[in-house]
Amino acid sequence: MKIILLGAPGAGKGTQAAKLVEEFATPHISTGDMLRAAVKAGTPLGKKAKSYMDAGDLVPDDVIIGLVTERLQDDDTAAGFILDGFPRTVPQAEALDNIAHIDAVVELAVEDQQLVDRLSGRRVCLKCGATNHVSQLNGRTQCDCGEPLVQRDDDKPETVLSRLKVYHDQTAPLVDFYEKKGLL
Ligand code: ADP
Ligand code: ZN
Repeated sequence: MKIILLGAPGAGKGTQAAKLVEEFATPHISTGDMLRAAVKAGTPLGKKAKSYMDAGDLVPDDVIIGLVTERLQDDDTAAGFILDGFPRTVPQAEALDNIAHIDAVVELAVEDQQLVDRLSGRRVCLKCGATNHVSQLNGRTQCDCGEPLVQRDDDKPETVLSRLKVYHDQTAPLVDFYEKKGLL
């Protein structure tokens, strides 16, 4: 199946995607992960995306649509995929309509206060992608894989609030968009 996971930052899209991947052995396509990899590698795309990401803003539609269009041409996506973090705007959803046939959209709905708490306490491993909450680490600062657990730049409190605002303004309308198509 070709599935979209829709939800605010911190709703658990990445966590649920990882479980679905185990169950269905289908590619997990996370635009956030792809962008962070590009930033880390210092590619032209990464250089362009970094300032938007650090500010909690969305990377421009044309950039992200190009990235996803390319990824969905890979053979491993033919039978199915899980999209995590894309689409995030109506223009992105309209572009996706032209490049893939989506079977279902799953919305993960979580209260804002809970999202703020999850995001500001989130610690991630930049190597293996593991996510933890500080309240469960008991002071531990290392991932099981040996790498340090760090706070993502965009999980700082001031950025968290702007990411939630961006979600409500630009991404939440997609709930309606897909409901009207009968896919939600
Ligand atoms: P989260 O869902 O936790 O906010 P992601 O890892 O999905 O984080 O995305 C991190 C950042 O990458 C976003 O804040 C945004 O700047 C950028 N980004 C990811 N996906 C998109 C997208 N589809 N459109 C625009 N920007 C995106
Ligand atoms: Zn790790």
